Amino acid sequence: MTKIAVVEGDGIGREVIPEAEKILRFFLPDAEFVRVELGFDQWKKTGSACSKESMKTLKEMDAILFGAVTTPPDPEYKSILLQIRHELDLYANIRPVKSESVDLVIVRENTEGLYSGIEEIGEERSTTLRVVTRDCSRRIAEKACSISIQRNQNKPLVIGHKANVLKSDILFRDICIAVAETQNLSIRSMFIDALCLDVLLHPDRYDVIVTTNMFGDILSDTCGYLTGGLGMLPSANIGKNHALFEPVHGSAPDIAGRGIANPIAAIRSAAMLLEHLGVQDAAEKIEAAVQQTLALGIVTPDLGGNASTRDVGENIFAKISGNQ
Ligand code: ATP
Ligand code: MG
Repeated sequence: MTKIAVVEGDGIGREVIPEAEKILRFFLPDAEFVRVELGFDQWKKTGSACSKESMKTLKEMDAILFGAVTTPPDPEYKSILLQIRHELDLYANIRPVKSESVDLVIVRENTEGLYSGIEEIGEERSTTLRVVTRDCSRRIAEKACSISIQRNQNKPLVIGHKANVLKSDILFRDICIAVAETQNLSIRSMFIDALCLDVLLHPDRYDVIVTTNMFGDILSDTCGYLTGGLGMLPSANIGKNHALFEPVHGSAPDIAGRGIANPIAAIRSAAMLLEHLGVQDAAEKIEAAVQQTLALGIVTPDLGGNASTRDVGENIFAKISGNQ
């Protein structure tokens, strides 16, 4: 039996995930859904953001639907999402950016780079180690190549880096180029800062962009501009044995508890989960329902509307389930 973990987490995660879960249950009527409590709220309640038991449960699942967790500025508090990505070795963060005029995918290395977690925090000097390894660069490059081949858009694979300043990026860039060459893919090597501007000016020139951990994080928030904001962007975190699906946005404490968060990023993440499990046509049906709801102007305040999270979720669900 298919087992799905549902992690709401903190803040707006608690509001958007139920809307996505409802859709998952519709497409997976026979699956077992396991609720896992983790995050900052859980840390406040129990002193542990994610118990060993919870981590074990996550590892036993076929897929994880994940909301968002708050990471407080406390230097003692380790990001729980980073821990999960490491423990489950979710090395590829896939972030599609899609709207009427844009259709691209950011493939972000998810386990090392500036998010290595190797840090020394001092009063006078703090350092974070930026780690780039051959093996991790190769596997993310291979993932990007396979996505590029699958999408077959006839556009070059773009490598985003800063090898002129960060010598650690020379290894990343060269491995990406070498892997792409073995697959006969045309490649375009770009500095990440120039890329951030160019993708906003000419999004149609882009198909698959592969980059390191923090650059990918920043680039995908930047691309939020192309799609009406963070509330629209889904993502997948894929490893060899595990897969976790989450909206690109965080827990947004500023709007949490008001029922106005946009659930579309979470719903699209559920669509990616279903695609990953090979559920036929689910992703297309979900996207069509999202588009119809957007066209009706049933949208949350971040998109200029006055609908609630639930209004949007229910509308999309009704279209999927054929009740509307
Ligand atoms: P975190 O530390 O958990 O990442 P954050 O304060 O950085 O929290 P984000 O969720 O990353 O918040 O989002 C940044 C801003 O974008 C939020 O302050 C919020 O106003 C807006 N935002 C993010 N997601 C959504 C959403 N789903 N619907 C509406 N607005 C959103
Ligand atoms: Mg954030």
